[in-house]
Amino acid sequence: MAEETIFSKIIRKEIPADVVYQDDLVTAFRDINPRAPSHILIIPNKLIPTVNDIEVEDEAAMGRMFTVARKLAAEEGIAEDGYRLIMNCNVHGGQEVYHIHMHLLGGRPLGPLLLG
Ligand code: 5GP
Repeated sequence: MAEETIFSKIIRKEIPADVVYQDDLVTAFRDINPRAPSHILIIPNKLIPTVNDIEVEDEAAMGRMFTVARKLAAEEGIAEDGYRLIMNCNVHGGQEVYHIHMHLLGGRPLGPLLLG
């Protein structure tokens, strides 16, 4: 059984977060340490620690993460100029929180993909 992270508490509204979207499958909230003018995390409500742990039964939630990303990008006004979606996996990917999350970043030119 995977260990819960702070993101489970955000989903259950047990700790404060700037939640911008929630439904039966996913929750989206602003990153506490934004790296761009728009920096939103989109996560499945189900605890999935890493991309390596995604199962076929999770495909609906994974698809919902993309349709919510598209909707939020439009709402943030960044859809036309463009944005970046990132999912980090494990140590080499730079993952810090072990509850998978899609970073939606935009609002400025983001530069080359890999930094550092
Ligand atoms: P990772 O490096 O795992 O892909 O990204 C984790 C992200 O979660 C980081 O960008 C970090 O700023 C964000 N984060 C970590 N803890 C919290 C929190 O308690 N609230 C919010 N809103 N974001 C968090």
